[in-house]
Amino acid sequence: MEVSSVKKLEQMEFSLESVTDLSSSSVSSSSPAVATFSCVDGVTELRFLPSDSTHCFNFDLASAQLFKLGPVHFICVSDSSSSTEEKSFSQGVNIKFKTEKDSKDFCDSFEEWTKDAVVQGSSLQNGTVSAKKSKFDNKIEASSAKMYFHYYGQLLHQQNMLQDYVRTGTYYAAVMENRSDFAGRIVVDVGAGSGILSMFAAQAGAKHVYAVEASEMAEYARKLIAGNPLFAERITVIKGKVEDIDLPEKADILISEPMGTLLVNERMLESYVIARDRFMSPKGKMFPTVGRIHMAPFSDEFLFIEMANKAMFWQQQNYYGVDLTPLYGSAHQGYFSQPVVDAFDPRVLVAPPMFHMIDFTQMKEEDFYEIDIPLKFTASMCTRLHGLACWFDVLFDGSTVQRWLTTAPGAPTTHWYQIRCVLSQPIYVMAGQEITGRLHLIAHSAQSYTIDLTLSAKMWGPGASQGGILQSSTCKFDLKEPYYRMSQPQAYPVAQEPPLQPQPELSTQQDIQTQNDELEEELLQQPPQNPSTQL
Ligand code: SAH
Repeated sequence: MEVSSVKKLEQMEFSLESVTDLSSSSVSSSSPAVATFSCVDGVTELRFLPSDSTHCFNFDLASAQLFKLGPVHFICVSDSSSSTEEKSFSQGVNIKFKTEKDSKDFCDSFEEWTKDAVVQGSSLQNGTVSAKKSKFDNKIEASSAKMYFHYYGQLLHQQNMLQDYVRTGTYYAAVMENRSDFAGRIVVDVGAGSGILSMFAAQAGAKHVYAVEASEMAEYARKLIAGNPLFAERITVIKGKVEDIDLPEKADILISEPMGTLLVNERMLESYVIARDRFMSPKGKMFPTVGRIHMAPFSDEFLFIEMANKAMFWQQQNYYGVDLTPLYGSAHQGYFSQPVVDAFDPRVLVAPPMFHMIDFTQMKEEDFYEIDIPLKFTASMCTRLHGLACWFDVLFDGSTVQRWLTTAPGAPTTHWYQIRCVLSQPIYVMAGQEITGRLHLIAHSAQSYTIDLTLSAKMWGPGASQGGILQSSTCKFDLKEPYYRMSQPQAYPVAQEPPLQPQPELSTQQDIQTQNDELEEELLQQPPQNPSTQL
């Protein structure tokens, strides 16, 4: 309250090189101007008054946003400040400062004055917060978000993704082979990180790219883009969440790399579809367009024993005189609730895989909260089944070329590797036997999922003729707590028992579809066997 009464009489002025109405196409209308921050009767405003014009631009600082286009060049946009006009109307001006120092001082003041505007807005409305509460903040724990954006704010983690050449090379190929989808277009890079995909889009001839990045990486992206003058003019980095920021125009195409382990980890796909609904024009495109989660049961005695052995530590009855066994059960359960992340040999798969498709152009944000996948496989061999192996791929459905990015076992390894949910109670299957079950993913507020897995097989033997006895095994996993196993030696070639019967060739590329989305037939073409050979 005190702050607002002090501000009442305050005002601050900046002189500008020029100001131009964004909605007018004529550059000639730009003229020197004065920008004034003011607070009158609790309303905090920014006014641009061009020296040669009677028309002035008023921005309500409760909704105004400033975008940096260059060292002295900015755009200011907001809902119309006039209460009599409809809220859907928005306005924008192009502003240019005389010096970089002027622009920096202006930005600092803008930040200060907008902060005050939001505080005042909330108190004015008698307890209701006028600033929109972010969709992101409503569903994600603050501590999780803090750690998440801290992680992505560090160059070493961006480098790790950039150095995944299968990933980055496939994005580059998908963009460059589909130049017509980018040339002359407005692009939004959803979660731009270092800005690499924005620069790919600019290389492909994009008219303008809005690179939206919520972490501190936005500052590095600005620096990197500024150091690439061929693109810098056409890329605007916006620091903020796609759920919160506004853009001055609609996008023809969204580009993003929102995939986590098992496709959905990190819950960034939700931000991707929110960005679609907020920024994409109705006929816009999405790169990637669809994703698929692939699944197959596997048999891996080594892995199973390795995990069971870890818990064996708690079987000691005399650990420096202490009996550890009371915690054995909990430790065992703990290890078997961790999905295992590593690159495995596809020969561990014991049935042809199936897949669940997610269409990013259609999926609603809420559809990601709970994903239920019924499972059905036919065992290719007689074996002990240890769990479910999963990986994903995404499709760039370009106008010229359709390109898949795959993380399948046997394909060149990516930084996502593959994931395996290991059952604490393996089940026995015979060749030709049906394996059924369910993979149930439930989103949680720590930007990940709880996984409930059930696999069942009808037992062979005496009970079989009466309909059989069901062997069933169920486990719960937290996708947020994986066991990274990449450094372990992989001794598969000698380890696997030979199958008891002649086997049909198992291919990770010949899945059975579980969800028949309304996608055109050609969209369902299988990814290439080895995508890296085509880069
Ligand atoms: N596009 C980059 C980075 C991909 S990693 C590349 O391909 O190399 C995903 C990035 O999205 C991270 O930098 C993360 O900080 C950002 N991000 C995640 N959720 C976001 C959100 N809701 N709004 C804006 N950025 C987000």
